[in-house]
Amino acid sequence: MKKIIQELNPYIPEKPLQQLQEELGLEKIVRLSANENPYGTSPKVKEAILNWNYDLSNRYPDSSAQELRNLVAEKFSLDPSQIVFGVGLDEVIVMLSRVFLQPGDEELVSVPTFSEYALHAEIEEAVIKEVATKENGQIDFSALLKNITAKTKLVWLCNPNNPTGTYETVSSIEEFVKQVPKETMVLVDEAYIDFVTEENPTTAMNLTKKYPNIVVMRTFSKAYGLANFRVGYAVFSNQIAGEVQKVRLPYNVSSIAQTAAIAAFKDQSFVDEVVAKNAIERAKYEELFQKLGLKFYHSQANFIFFKADSAQELAQVLLKNGYLIRTGLRPSWLRLSIGTPDDNLKIQKIITDFLVS
Ligand SMILES: *Cc1c(COP(=O)(O)O)cnc(C)c1O
Repeated sequence: MKKIIQELNPYIPEKPLQQLQEELGLEKIVRLSANENPYGTSPKVKEAILNWNYDLSNRYPDSSAQELRNLVAEKFSLDPSQIVFGVGLDEVIVMLSRVFLQPGDEELVSVPTFSEYALHAEIEEAVIKEVATKENGQIDFSALLKNITAKTKLVWLCNPNNPTGTYETVSSIEEFVKQVPKETMVLVDEAYIDFVTEENPTTAMNLTKKYPNIVVMRTFSKAYGLANFRVGYAVFSNQIAGEVQKVRLPYNVSSIAQTAAIAAFKDQSFVDEVVAKNAIERAKYEELFQKLGLKFYHSQANFIFFKADSAQELAQVLLKNGYLIRTGLRPSWLRLSIGTPDDNLKIQKIITDFLVS
């Protein structure tokens, strides 16, 4: 076995809700620890799944996901061949690490951020260099630039960043890419970009036509509410996309997942509604945290990262009341996915009572 695998700390996935409910003896748990969509998915998805041709079960899926590819390409004015699909954005992270990293190469990450970037770099036996975000949670682009060496193959930018929720403008990303050596790939994870309401346009996708060393990633798991179907993708410059296709497993995205993603993608009004509701609810949390004097990062995502004394205790109190939130990302800090208005109201009361009592 590779030595690195024996030493590796794996990603710890969420427990099945049913199991957790039984363990805790609760009738209901609302999971607000994984940034899932509390409003479900588009009703059009259910219709499409029920109409899916079951007789295709013994046939391999369309390897190129042609219909979904064309829809995405059209919406974002891309060449369809720029897109590579994955079993969630997670698999795209694996593919990129596999393609670009050799043992001893360096990868730069702005921290705190999504742990999978470093995990897969470790598996490829690359060296991970961490650069702290600025005080306000924003990416410190000039510190990243200073840390790029001839060995740096990948720089990860999560935008908006998980867990801080902070957003970087397209122009600041372009300004950064311009100064990065051509041999260093800049990877922009836009898992939460749909939730940004402060800026328009928000995506860095079009930079892929100008700079061969930028990659932009998306997922259907968050704003589209399709976490269970596992569909994500990356947009590359035309030069790079074909190379990455070589490592993709030929039938990675099932037909039923493609069908679900197509239906969800066509129903942009569902996404628009989710985004609007999320923005209203997110503002209420910021208002509350301000009132309570809690430290938090200004979020443009569907979660908020905040600091509380006795954070573990607060998380336990929330859990006893049926709300599971994310602990363990940073001492005294908690990440809470924005829920439905009804749940948020209850959570805000629990937090207030906990802190004021
Ligand atoms: C949720 C998440 C992903 C993973 O998305 P999937 O498509 O469900 O694999 C990727 N990046 C970030 C930052 C995330 O939070």
